[in-house]
Amino acid sequence: MSTNADLLARRTAAVARGVGHTTPVSAARALNAEVWDVEGKRYIDFAGGIAVLNTGHCHPKVMAAVQAQMERFTHTCFQVLMYEPYIALAERLNAIAPIRGAAKSLFFTTGAEATENAVKIARIVTGRPGIIAFTGAFHGRTNLAVTLTGKVMPYKKGLPATLPDIFHVPFPVAQLGVSIEETLRHLDFIFKADVAPENVAAIIIEPVQGEGGFHMAPPALMRALRRICDEHGILLIADEVQTGFGRTGKMFAMEHYDVHPDLVCVAKSLAGGFPLSGVIGRADVIDGVDPGGLGGTYAGNPLACAAALAVLDVLKEEKLIDRANVIGDMLVNRIKGWETRNDLLPVSAVRGPGAMIAFDIVKDRGTFEPDAEATRRVVQKAWQSGLVLLSCGTTFSTIRILVPLTASDAVLQEGMDLLEGALAAG
Ligand code: PMP
Repeated sequence: MSTNADLLARRTAAVARGVGHTTPVSAARALNAEVWDVEGKRYIDFAGGIAVLNTGHCHPKVMAAVQAQMERFTHTCFQVLMYEPYIALAERLNAIAPIRGAAKSLFFTTGAEATENAVKIARIVTGRPGIIAFTGAFHGRTNLAVTLTGKVMPYKKGLPATLPDIFHVPFPVAQLGVSIEETLRHLDFIFKADVAPENVAAIIIEPVQGEGGFHMAPPALMRALRRICDEHGILLIADEVQTGFGRTGKMFAMEHYDVHPDLVCVAKSLAGGFPLSGVIGRADVIDGVDPGGLGGTYAGNPLACAAALAVLDVLKEEKLIDRANVIGDMLVNRIKGWETRNDLLPVSAVRGPGAMIAFDIVKDRGTFEPDAEATRRVVQKAWQSGLVLLSCGTTFSTIRILVPLTASDAVLQEGMDLLEGALAAG
């Protein structure tokens, strides 16, 4: 039997160094919110494969749907021979997506492909090149997507600073001293200094920044962006790759706002562990691209579409969106109790929405001086004690929780006990 150490040594010798790793652990099997490594040690999974497992590892309904599809066929390429699971998934997403009026969808494989294609659709349909994104944003690692991403280290190191016609404005985060007014003033500077609004195709925004630190876009910002988009014929793209499918206590995080995006990027928890992404959008916008302009050999794989249809059923049958709010309250209450504890590392700024919960580790209680080193130690202590945990944030000091929404109360509390232990030891 291979040990974690054996596999790490083989990985180090065989796998590109550029693929990072949070833990030196190799998984052997997983179920719901628990994972067992190759040495038989059990972990509670607060990472959910980075927001992919809202319905948990190996949900029986998802597995059964994929197995049934596997017995029929695994690939035809949708552009060659179409199949019902793709069409049915588009129908279901069109009906529930936060798009005003008729919607249409298309599918890909990764989140980066979803953001790349949303931008591509916007450019083709508007005939304009400009794209506005935000500092701290994460939209993927491919060449265009990484340019949209608003964080240099580690994603853009060694790359050209930007591709043409992509601009970043500061994402408003009160805790980091950036106001909505500053964001909008900066946008106005860009419109005056770099690109006329008539040359901007789209503004792309995560309603809650994921990798950037679980900061929610204030409703006033979203309203202002919608107004600016409407005024200048710019399209608003919501990147819901991390926020979608119940994580924020709504099916889509855009439901927290009273404005609608024109295009929505989805991936991750859409297919419960199978690789699938998509763009859902206004039918008149999506249909602005001629046949052949969109797609991909594996895009919208039938196994992944079957999984996604089952995920949508599970979210509904198990009332996981309500559950996200219950989990969120439980986690927030527990973390708030840590804010005044002297025996733990100082924590600050616990935030939601729903079960998209994060907090920061700071140098001194009651202040906001991020402690990236302590955060790194906590993540390490956590996995050593049996909790898979992720950090994030532009200050590298945010602990984020993306536990499956199917996790039992007992497993959640056990995971929080381990997190508390890591904060005590850190
Ligand atoms: N957008 C957002 C908001 C994401 O969180 C991510 C992945 N963390 C992506 C896009 C890129 O997805 P992928 O890694 O599947 O390309």
